[in-house]
Amino acid sequence: MTQTNEGGDVRLAGISKTYGSFTAVHPLDLTVPQGSFFALLGASGCGKTTTLRMIAGLEDPTTGTVRLGDRDVTDLPPYKRPVNTVFQSYALFPHLDVTENIAFGLRRRGIKSVKKQVGDMLDLVQLGDFAHRKPHQLSGGQQQRVAVARALINHPQVLLLDEPLGALDLKLRRQMQLELKRIQTEVGITFVHVTHDQEEAMTMADTVAVMNGGRVEQLGAPAELYENPDTTFVANFLGTSNLIEAEVVEAGADITVLASGAKLRLPADRCTAATSTGGKLLVGVRPEKIALVHADDAAEIAEGRNRITGRIADSSFIGVSTQYVIDSPVCPGLEVYVQNVERDSRLSPGADVVLHWNPGHSFGLDAGQAVDAGKADASAEEAA
Ligand code: ATP
Repeated sequence: MTQTNEGGDVRLAGISKTYGSFTAVHPLDLTVPQGSFFALLGASGCGKTTTLRMIAGLEDPTTGTVRLGDRDVTDLPPYKRPVNTVFQSYALFPHLDVTENIAFGLRRRGIKSVKKQVGDMLDLVQLGDFAHRKPHQLSGGQQQRVAVARALINHPQVLLLDEPLGALDLKLRRQMQLELKRIQTEVGITFVHVTHDQEEAMTMADTVAVMNGGRVEQLGAPAELYENPDTTFVANFLGTSNLIEAEVVEAGADITVLASGAKLRLPADRCTAATSTGGKLLVGVRPEKIALVHADDAAEIAEGRNRITGRIADSSFIGVSTQYVIDSPVCPGLEVYVQNVERDSRLSPGADVVLHWNPGHSFGLDAGQAVDAGKADASAEEAA
């Protein structure tokens, strides 16, 4: 039976890219549903840009096919694909004003009356007052919006965004993330966005594919990836995770483990590792899920919670929360984020504390992986 895909999903089947003996992208099957905001997320060199360029037609795949809807576009040159790309550098024409930059694609196709369409685009990206400015008279964020409008006026089936916010400062980035999301919702076109910024991917995308070493390590909705990472790489790359080495003492719907004498529990359905009694496991828990009390108040902790004792090694006040680093015999360098509601002044470096959390907030990972895979320091080094 032939499957019709008139909707226009982007379908990558067995697509790969090798340069000599180096494999930048391992054979990859991926479907991006039409109308969705999809992010390819990963550290520098993981193959995300190569994947995007293969969709655009800027890079020939070594194996596999690219389909847009029912159409196999693998052998089509970029300009014949119903796809437009917005690059980090924007690549605006410096001698043309905003209106003419946006109108460029229409003019090239010989369309003379561009006013209405350009006007609609200016409204969409909220640059009506800047129509006659040249690119150098615009801020980075405004230039970026012109680049988006210039691409969207061609009514592509898919808009590809290659680190489009990379040149902006943090505050503007955050603002533009919301702006791009609004534009995508308004026009309903499929957006495929490449970024190394996990917060950016999570803020904007419906689905995130986390890439590592030329492979998609895990794919899912942001909250699903965050709450239920399958691997240590995803657990560390998306936000921060505490990963505690432990041994299984009882496996059922609830798994009980021992970590340096501390008994912890976690739900079996949040565990991706094989669990047999005596086997090893990494117990994961996010820093914001953990509560912290001074050791003198340990009696107040409710029954049934996971608990670990430790000593505060470091604390940083960051306004909305305080971030603690706690050394425990169970695990060194545990991270705990506490909302700054009522601050306990005793919780300062050197204080003995008890960490406790709802066992349901723990997840379990295979202990055969590197505990620090995907950690921010490692990624930053790679990116440098
Ligand atoms: P970045 O965020 O730094 O752009 P990326 O995840 O987008 O990284 P790619 O640009 O897809 O990574 O590159 C993936 C790997 O392929 C890298 O190791 C890169 O060095 C390699 N690569 C890319 N283009 C070529 C090329 N033309 N020849 C050889 N190797 C290449």
